[in-house]
Amino acid sequence: MPLTMFACANCGFWQRHFSPPDCPVCTDVRNDLPEDGWRFLPEADVAATHDGGAREVAPGLWAFTTTPALGLAGTGWLIVREGGNIAFEAAPYYSQAMLDKIAELGGIAFLAASHAHGYGALFQLQRRFDPEVVAIQKDDLRMTKAFRVTVPYDDALELAPGYTLHHVGGHYEGQACLHDAPGLRLFCGDMFKIDQDADGRSTAISSHKAFHKDIPLTHAELAQYRAAIAPLEFDAVLTPFEYAPEVDRMVALAALDDGLARMPGVRRLGL
Ligand SMILES: [Zn+2]
Ligand SMILES: [Zn+2]
Repeated sequence: MPLTMFACANCGFWQRHFSPPDCPVCTDVRNDLPEDGWRFLPEADVAATHDGGAREVAPGLWAFTTTPALGLAGTGWLIVREGGNIAFEAAPYYSQAMLDKIAELGGIAFLAASHAHGYGALFQLQRRFDPEVVAIQKDDLRMTKAFRVTVPYDDALELAPGYTLHHVGGHYEGQACLHDAPGLRLFCGDMFKIDQDADGRSTAISSHKAFHKDIPLTHAELAQYRAAIAPLEFDAVLTPFEYAPEVDRMVALAALDDGLARMPGVRRLGL
């Protein structure tokens, strides 16, 4: 079998392989194993069965999603700006039309993701747009075999003036957030899980080491999140799944402080 791209049918994680023996995301405690064994979808099969679209959720901020849902069904964010667009996280798969839409919006100059649950089909964005900067925090490099990291970093990396990646760890060793200072937004990865109702209104906020198993973070991990985001101004957060304009800096810090004030445990705080 030649090397090709395969998506895990359970979580959507992509691997360049000849015959994936398993999926490193699903075998990890932070995701569930498939109920009925492994199924790996060659890229041609995914391309033939999936489509998707883009919508501008705020001026200059685009959300790319895949239909039908693939894996964890994340969202790829695109910040359209003078001086080069920034893509953070990626959709599970991009149709030709979706890639053409990104090209029409100016392509991608900077590409990054918070952690493996947000990688989606990041490899497609690198293949099509070949940005000089593909940035992943060094502790998560082991998860990046499907694409090529060009800029590994330690504690922080300024992608462009006002757009800075900060290592936060916790949920994943190398988890990072992207602070968008001009837009007052925090692309927070899975630092926070935001529950939303059918209309997309945020109803609760929580933090987890492992979402499916409800494993909480330790106090030191919560404190590390707090130290990283307390100096940042933001009035909205964006996870790899949700856009939550209801969660500003005060709400985010209050959720962390609640966790720090009691025995470690997952609690969904109402908004
Ligand atoms: Zn998987
Ligand atoms: Zn995650």
